[in-house]
Amino acid sequence: MEKRKRIALVAHDNRKQDLIEWVEFNAFSLREHQIICTGTTGKMIEQQLRSSLSEEHYGDFEVIKLKSGPLGGDQQLGAMIVDGKVDMMIFFWDPMQPQPHDVDVKALLRITVLYNIPTACNRSTADFMISSHLFTEAYDRKIKDYSSYINREVKM
Ligand code: PGA
Repeated sequence: MEKRKRIALVAHDNRKQDLIEWVEFNAFSLREHQIICTGTTGKMIEQQLRSSLSEEHYGDFEVIKLKSGPLGGDQQLGAMIVDGKVDMMIFFWDPMQPQPHDVDVKALLRITVLYNIPTACNRSTADFMISSHLFTEAYDRKIKDYSSYINREVKM
C-alpha cells in the first residue's frame, strides 16, 4: 500500500459517537488519506468535520460514501477489499446489540483477515494504528498464497 492510505471507517449506531470523536481528534492526520465510509457513518463524519474545521481544512478531506451498512454497504466494502481498493479498516461494531445485517458484518471481518487488512475494532487499536510510523509510509502487505486452493481438485 502507498503512503496515502485508503481507509474504511464504519461504526454501528451506538458507536458512531466514539468514531466521530476519534476522527475529529485525528483530523489532521486523516486528511492526508482517502476515507471510505458506509452511508450513515460517512454522512455524520462529514457533518462533524464541516462544523469543526475551517472551510479550507474541510476541503482537504475526501470522503467516499457507500450504501448504508444494513442496505449493503458492508458488502460493498468487502468487495472493495477483494478488488484491492481498501488499505485499512476501522470498524467500531457494537458488541452489545444484534444487528439486522450481522451476517454481512461477519463476512466483512472475515474478508479483512483473508486479505490481511489492518483492522481496528476499538479505539485503542485505532490509536495504535494511527500512531504507527507505517501509517504514513508505504507498506508491503503480504497476502497468503491461495493458489493451491484455487487449483485444488474437486471430485465430481
Ligand atoms: P451505516 O452502516 O454507516 O450506514 O450506519 C454501518 C454498519 O452498520 O455497517
